[in-house]
Amino acid sequence: MQQAKGYAAFSNTTPLVPFQFERRELTATDVQIEILYCGVCHSDIHQVRNEWGNSAFPMVPGHEIVGKVIQVGNAVSKFKIGDSVGVGCMVDSCRACPDCQEGLEQFCNHAVFTYNSPDPHTNGQASTYGGYSNQIVVDQSFVLKIAENLDLAAAAPLLCAGITTYSPLKQWQVKKGDKVGVVGLGGLGHMAVKFAHALGAHVVLFTTSANKIADAKRLGANEVVISKNPEEMNAHLQSFDFILNTVAAPHNLDAYTALLKRDGTLCLVGVPDHPHPSPSVGNLIFKRRRIAGSLIGGIKETQEMLDFCAQHNITSDIEMIPIQQINEAYERVIKSDVKYRFVIDLASLKLDAA
Ligand code: NAP
Ligand code: ZN
Ligand code: ZN
Repeated sequence: MQQAKGYAAFSNTTPLVPFQFERRELTATDVQIEILYCGVCHSDIHQVRNEWGNSAFPMVPGHEIVGKVIQVGNAVSKFKIGDSVGVGCMVDSCRACPDCQEGLEQFCNHAVFTYNSPDPHTNGQASTYGGYSNQIVVDQSFVLKIAENLDLAAAAPLLCAGITTYSPLKQWQVKKGDKVGVVGLGGLGHMAVKFAHALGAHVVLFTTSANKIADAKRLGANEVVISKNPEEMNAHLQSFDFILNTVAAPHNLDAYTALLKRDGTLCLVGVPDHPHPSPSVGNLIFKRRRIAGSLIGGIKETQEMLDFCAQHNITSDIEMIPIQQINEAYERVIKSDVKYRFVIDLASLKLDAA
């Protein structure tokens, strides 16, 4: 075992505080990564506050990890010391089930998530610990390559916000000329706007925040709708091919299904702590519309997304923070007041007394 340090939550009502813990010794196929930057996802907040009811403490959150390889096991073939790499929401899976074999490890019943997941290396007795820390040890099959032309800090959010929005746009085959809606301009939403724009869609951003209109247009939205305004919403009835909804709070979905064309899909990626009000069946059956969901993306598709980003020069718009400001950052995310993803500079861990 080797010493690591980071920040952890010890309960769902207390702030994150400095935490010392251990990482495993490298197995033959493991890669050890010095973590340089880690994005702050709304899922971190949901889990730290136990809003999904499955939290284990202490919890070291963080699943938008980028850094440099500092050590490799003797059977590692994909990476060498010094490589720029990333780790997203998963660190392992069963590798044998149909989901794993199809490169859809996120749906594996035995997926091991990067934090708050029983750790098979401890026989499940301890939880995995995530990226709010100085280093991590991960099997090479769950490590991603990051192209040198991408800014590493701004690439961190691609590992969750990026793949979570890229994957459904690909799954529903968004293409040039499609009319695509994105609901919510937060960490996920701003990546969805960038990707849908890069794919050639006509992008409409739905927001509750009037002060985000100019940013949404700069990020690639063709139009911006204030979703609280029924007249603006009604102007788009029956017109969308696809709408991606990233909102982290329960709300009325009928307002969006009504905007879909025949056979259009409203895909939900936000995971609120309480259910949305039950949607109208009539809105669905009369135009054969669908409400669907999507969960991050598999490892192969995550690499494809990172390569797409390198090709199109796409990264996240970030606000960099030292780890000591993590609790204030959470409060700002909850108020929808982040432009558009906080990223922790892990060099700041050194500022705490040893
Ligand atoms: P975020 O940065 O907080 O963005 C959410 C946005 O939703 C806000 O910026 C805000 O945008 C809008 N919003 C917030 N409260 C709202 C309300 N009451 N009514 C309407 N709109 C509201 O969060 P995020 O990190 O993007 O994550 C979004 C959700 O996706 C979270 O629930 C997270 O757990 C989930 N998630 C899911 C997956 C997956 O695989 N499915 C992966 C990652 C995250 P405006 O100011 O523009 O209205
Ligand atoms: Zn996430
Ligand atoms: Zn599996």
